[in-house]
Amino acid sequence: MTRSLYDLDAGQLEALVAEAGEPPYRARQLSHWLDGRRQPDPLRMSDLPGLLRARLADRFAGAGLTLERHQAGDGGWTHKLLFRLPGGDAVESVLMLYPVGGGDREGAGPRARATVCISTQAGCAMGCTFCATGQFGFTRQLSAGEVVEQVARVSTMLPELRPGPDAPDHLTNVVFMGMGEPFANPAATWGAAWRLHRGFGLSARAITISTVGLVPGIRRAATEPLPVNLAVSIHAADDGLRDRLVPVNRTWPIAELLAAVRDYVTATRRRVSFEYALMAGVNDGVDQADRLGRLLAPLRVPGSGGHAAHVNLIPYNPTPGGSGGSSLAPRSPGAGFAPPSKGAVRRFRDAVAATGVPVSVRANRGVGIDAACGQLRTSAGRPGRPPTTGGLPLSPTDRGTPSGFPGPLRPDPRPHAATELRR
Ligand code: SAH
Ligand code: SF4
Repeated sequence: MTRSLYDLDAGQLEALVAEAGEPPYRARQLSHWLDGRRQPDPLRMSDLPGLLRARLADRFAGAGLTLERHQAGDGGWTHKLLFRLPGGDAVESVLMLYPVGGGDREGAGPRARATVCISTQAGCAMGCTFCATGQFGFTRQLSAGEVVEQVARVSTMLPELRPGPDAPDHLTNVVFMGMGEPFANPAATWGAAWRLHRGFGLSARAITISTVGLVPGIRRAATEPLPVNLAVSIHAADDGLRDRLVPVNRTWPIAELLAAVRDYVTATRRRVSFEYALMAGVNDGVDQADRLGRLLAPLRVPGSGGHAAHVNLIPYNPTPGGSGGSSLAPRSPGAGFAPPSKGAVRRFRDAVAATGVPVSVRANRGVGIDAACGQLRTSAGRPGRPPTTGGLPLSPTDRGTPSGFPGPLRPDPRPHAATELRR
C-alpha cells in the first residue's frame, strides 16, 4: 500500500497519469504540486482535470497524513501538530518560528526562520530513560514519503499559523528531532532528506539529523553526498552514566561513538553538534562538564584546526511520569528527573567553555504544549495497542532483544528496529 503520494517517484507518477489516460505533461504538473507547491492533496491541485483529481483522491484515499490536532504555544510562535498516519498510528511535528535576530542558536540570525521538527518513527525503540517518546515505546517505521509529507503539510499551513508580519512566511529549516531515531530508519531518513533537497529545494545545510549515537548511521552519514548537519545526543561524559540514560550506549560506548564522529569530521570537514539534556543531580555537575569538554576538545576540523564539536545544552523538559526530582533518577528509568537550576546550567556551560569547546544553551520552546525536546509522545500512538511488527502481532518471545544487542533497561518491544542497527 502506498502510504503517501510522496512515496512515489517520477516514473510512478508518469505511470499513474498514463493509466488514467492523461498526457505525460500531467505527471510534471502533479510533481510540481507535490514538490514545488508542497501540496499533498490531489483535490487541491487546481489545474489538473477534475476527473484526474477525483481519480487520484479515490485511489489514494487511505494514504497520506491527516491533521488531527493543532496546539499553539509561545504566543503563536510554536505549533504542535498531531498527524494520523495510514493504519491508525500517529506522529507529532513541531513548527518553531523565529523573528529576525530572535531565538536560540538554531533560530538566531539575520533573517527570520521557520524550523519544522519532524518524526521518523511512531514512537522509538531506543528507550532513553528521560524521553517521553522513548517511554512510550516503538510502534512503527515511517516511510520516506510520510516524513516528507510532514514538511509539506506544515509548509502549506504556515501562512495561516504565523502570529504576525514579523514571522517568516516560508519554511527555512528542517530538523529530524521529533519522534524516533532517524538512523534506526535510515532508508526513510535519507530518502526524505534527498527529497527535501532535490524536490523541495532546501539546502542541505538547512537540514539537521539528530542521532542518539548509532555508529553505523554516523558512518553512513560520512559517506552520503548530501552535506546535512549532524547532531549527536550525548548526555553524559562517562559510560557508567550514559549506559543508564541512553541504553544504546552499551552497544556503542562513548569511545566508539567519538571515533565514528572523528572519522565523520575527517571525511566531511563539517562540524557536529552534541546535544546534552541537563538533568538536576544526574548529569549537571561541573565534573561532567569538564569531562565532556575534554572529550570533545580534540575534535578539530581538518585544515582550519577549529573546534569541530559544539555543545548544545537542553535543560531537561519534564515528561509525563518522568519528572519528580528523585535522587534515584539514574537508577529508576522513566521516573524522577527534574530540570536543572539556572545556576547549574550556567556553571555547566562555563565549565565546558573553559575547555575551549563552543557551547550554547538551547531556548526552551513549546514546553507549555508538551512540544519541547523529548516531550513528544503519544497521545499520538494508540495507547493500549500492543506494538506490532509490520502488522503481525508479536509473540512474547519476540519481545526480547536479539542476541548481541543489549537493549534498553526496560523491555524493548521492537526487536526488528534493533536488528537494523547492527547492519
Ligand atoms: N532520536 C534522536 C532525535 C529525537 S530526540 C536523538 O535522540 O537524538 C531530540 C533531542 O531531544 C535529543 O537530543 C534528545 O536526547 C532530547 N531529549 C529527549 N528527551 C528530552 C527531555 N525530556 N528533555 C530535554 N531533551 C530531551
Ligand atoms: Fe528515541 Fe531520541 Fe527519545 Fe532516545 S531521545 S528515546 S533515541 S527519540
